[in-house]
Amino acid sequence: MNIILFGPPGAGKGTQAHHLVHDFGMVQLSTGDILRQAVQEGTEVGKIAGELMKAGKLIPDDLMNKILGERLDKPDTQNGVIFDGFPRTKPQVEALDKLLAERHRKLDCVIEIKVDEDALVQRIVGRYICTKCGAGYHDEFKRPKKEGVCDVCGSTEFKRRPDDNAEAVRARLVEYHEKTAPILPIYEARGLVSYVDGMLPMKEVATKIHQILTDKGAKPVSA
Ligand code: AMP
Repeated sequence: MNIILFGPPGAGKGTQAHHLVHDFGMVQLSTGDILRQAVQEGTEVGKIAGELMKAGKLIPDDLMNKILGERLDKPDTQNGVIFDGFPRTKPQVEALDKLLAERHRKLDCVIEIKVDEDALVQRIVGRYICTKCGAGYHDEFKRPKKEGVCDVCGSTEFKRRPDDNAEAVRARLVEYHEKTAPILPIYEARGLVSYVDGMLPMKEVATKIHQILTDKGAKPVSA
């Protein structure tokens, strides 16, 4: 299955994608993760993306479409992926249609995670992850059981995203409203969109998404 997780920054797309990887053995394709890796490695793409990301701006479509095409040519994507953070603009929707058609694949479902936007800045600004295992935490909502120690792997090193500050988050929300939100009606017109309430506790959101996908025929790994 190829599915898109759709919603504003901070809606929980990445967290939910991790659940789906675990539950269904799907592959997560996070364009944000690909770009962050490029920035870290100092590649040409990373040099272009770094400043734009820090400012909360979108990376140009041509570059994103090229990155996506290259990622879709890797064999692990053949049985379907979770698109997390792509498409974000109308030209990216068109590019995705073309990239999938060229590979004889199709989009099965778009899941919109609906959230109360007033909560987003607070949600994003407080979040951080364990540097070693990637477990997610939050200053207010989810502190490690023992202060400064990861619950999962025991590491004492954590990191925050450089674009998770209030100013960049506001810019990311402006980009979302101007360029990303308008693509949802395209998928609604195709009858592909399901909706979940992203303000529910994370586990409940995961259960609802799990149900949507099993209803559409996805097979959980343990089944
Ligand atoms: P994310 O991890 O999905 O929140 O993405 C972090 C940042 O990466 C965004 O704020 C953009 O600057 C950039 N980015 C990720 N995906 C895309 C995309 N599909 N198109 C343009 N920019 C993107």
